[in-house]
Amino acid sequence: MDTTRSEALFAAAQGVMPGGVSSPVRAFGSVGGTPRFMASARGPWITDADGNEYADLVGSWGPAILGHAHPAVVAAVQEAAALGLTFGAPTARETELALEVQRRVPAVERLRFVSTGTEATMTAIRLARGVTARPLVVKFAGCYHGHLDGLLAAAGSGVATLALPGSAGVTEAVAAETLVLPYNDLTAVEEAFATHGDRIAAVITEAAPANMGVVPPLPGFNRALHEVCSRHGALLVMDEVLTGFRAGPGGWWGLEGAEEGWEPDLLTFGKVVGGGLPVAAVGGRREVMEHLAPLGPVYQAGTLSGNPVATAAGLATLQHADAAVYARVSTVADAIATGLSDALGAAGVAHSIQRAGTLFSAAFVDPAEGPVTDYTRAQSQDVFRYAPLFHSLLEQGVHAPPSVFEAWFVSAAHDDAAVNRILEALPAAARAAAAA
Ligand code: PMP
Repeated sequence: MDTTRSEALFAAAQGVMPGGVSSPVRAFGSVGGTPRFMASARGPWITDADGNEYADLVGSWGPAILGHAHPAVVAAVQEAAALGLTFGAPTARETELALEVQRRVPAVERLRFVSTGTEATMTAIRLARGVTARPLVVKFAGCYHGHLDGLLAAAGSGVATLALPGSAGVTEAVAAETLVLPYNDLTAVEEAFATHGDRIAAVITEAAPANMGVVPPLPGFNRALHEVCSRHGALLVMDEVLTGFRAGPGGWWGLEGAEEGWEPDLLTFGKVVGGGLPVAAVGGRREVMEHLAPLGPVYQAGTLSGNPVATAAGLATLQHADAAVYARVSTVADAIATGLSDALGAAGVAHSIQRAGTLFSAAFVDPAEGPVTDYTRAQSQDVFRYAPLFHSLLEQGVHAPPSVFEAWFVSAAHDDAAVNRILEALPAAARAAAAA
């Protein structure tokens, strides 16, 4: 496979941008080699600067649920762009998109648009502190909520230990306001509330974590979080930036909370809600949301928030993400997850296929010890097996996430040709993993 152009582009990029990238995972740090510089994408296919075409399992990390460059989404964007790129004033489409979100997730009584998932979680946390007048936030080890200082806290061990900064540049004072608990561990949550209950503003959790590989919540875990938070006067923030409108039409909450009859106080969205352009949002209970400026004292703003071109992409995406789309995404996820497991099994690689709705990943752990349920176990896997698997796939024209700690993203545009490309590549990739 010729990668001359990508190599030259990477060298040039490194001369002017740290690591040559705009977001770290793109640099192939954990798998090695030259990141492919991409030139175009359509449906399930993505083409690099050397003209190599790959079946895509990254999907821009989630937004591309309809596949890349869906004609209706591109048309909506072109139409909106021709009318002006940004006004810095309200538009009708923001209300339309907010109503579509509310239709799918009725817990969203009010919604504020922002441009990135990080802004959405940052706003949710500020709002929770503003509403409760409490300082502390509980997060779970292995959950990613964007790069706001307070939520970069390292995967802490033990219960309710005050976290150390997870990134240089985060002050200890900020990190000390985050309690990091083991995921899926309700006892740890109860203990944290027993000790710090009257100082905890919010618990933030990925609705179904997919940033330590996929680690679904144990049955009842999210519901119990909701119950503990209500009992102690803290807010539950469900981060659906990744799962929203992907795990199902109403996100992960639609599969779980809607069935069980409970609602989080706040939810955050990103990725699919913007259809590939920068739209994210925080929404939830009216009395909480109305603490936001201009109605309330919690400040939040954005020059490009609710941008007319970006909301056009989001609205067109949600309008086309119908039952048939979710059915196809589910079928494709089944086929590839099964193919991956079969290939790893045939090659003798111990693994657990981790699954949450249409999201999946493989963890290289001993399946006799059960699936991965927390970050400690996720980190204990045979991480070294992933790089050879990844590079074998890449050489065979399959673009998988360049880290074992990411979900594999499929789309409704993954047709039989794309699925077969992936299925045919998996056995050799699994053998490469076995040989590592
Ligand atoms: N929350 C979750 C669950 C995410 O997966 C991500 C991004 N992967 C974010 C928040 C941050 O979103 P963004 O990258 O748009 O800031």
